[in-house]
Amino acid sequence: MKILEGKKAIITGASRGIGKGIAVVFAGHGADVAFTYSSSEGPALELQKELEGYGVKAKAYKSDAASFEQAEALVNQVLEDFGGVDILVNNAGITKDNLLMRMSEADFDQVIEVNLKSIFNMTKAIQRTFLKQRSGSIVNMSSVVGVKGNAGQANYAASKAGMIGFTKSVALELGSRNIRCNAIAPGFIETEMTDKLDEKTVQGWRDAIPLKRGGTPEDVANACLFLASDLSAYVTGQVLHVDGGMLT
Ligand code: NAP
Repeated sequence: MKILEGKKAIITGASRGIGKGIAVVFAGHGADVAFTYSSSEGPALELQKELEGYGVKAKAYKSDAASFEQAEALVNQVLEDFGGVDILVNNAGITKDNLLMRMSEADFDQVIEVNLKSIFNMTKAIQRTFLKQRSGSIVNMSSVVGVKGNAGQANYAASKAGMIGFTKSVALELGSRNIRCNAIAPGFIETEMTDKLDEKTVQGWRDAIPLKRGGTPEDVANACLFLASDLSAYVTGQVLHVDGGMLT
């Protein structure tokens, strides 16, 4: 069964990692996919081709999610190119880790702007369309770190916790118009973002997870498929933990 047949989705930050996993699963389930990247043009165009292989419409857009103007322009362009949008996945995110003592103001501001301000930008830009059609599903990619905090990630944790507050507020504000807004809190998902980490540390994390492994982009994508689709028609304002039991 193709769960997203006839739906159109925008996914931010899908040139690699979790976003790419979501784009592939959505296309495999029949959705037309518009997705963004920040600088990885080659991989983005390759992904566009891969998605088209599923027989859906797919297009890559270079757009900085942290920019209010670019988010607005992106949504207008996607509406013109795709003729509508049903699903918004706010996935774009960065880390600039450091102990607070060494964290610069620029590193704090940039992480907040790319991770948190971006979801304001994108939600504002899509809001009118969702209100008019009286439906829409928004999925925001938070993190286990936004729920429990993490030493060396004060900026990232603040941005991811902020996303949860934003998600619940939007769910309360727009629920009466059949617009749903949920968050996913992935635990340790093995992507390029985590490839930079020391292997010994990473193995320690795997051992501490009840399911004894890091997650895959597909693990997160399947949870996202549920929240984006009508399968979750009565679910809003929730944070779905996809962490192998890490917080249990
Ligand atoms: P990743 O491999 O580093 O990929 C990040 C994606 O975001 C890339 O496509 C990147 O585009 C894009 N991006 C970065 N800045 C952007 C901007 N300003 N505007 C638009 N796109 C931008 O990261 P990931 O591990 O897949 O993580 C995806 C999301 O899941 C993030 O929000 C992250 O915080 C969250 N998360 C990840 C984990 C994990 O363990 N990996 C755990 C919890 C939550 P370019 O390729 O062009 O740079």
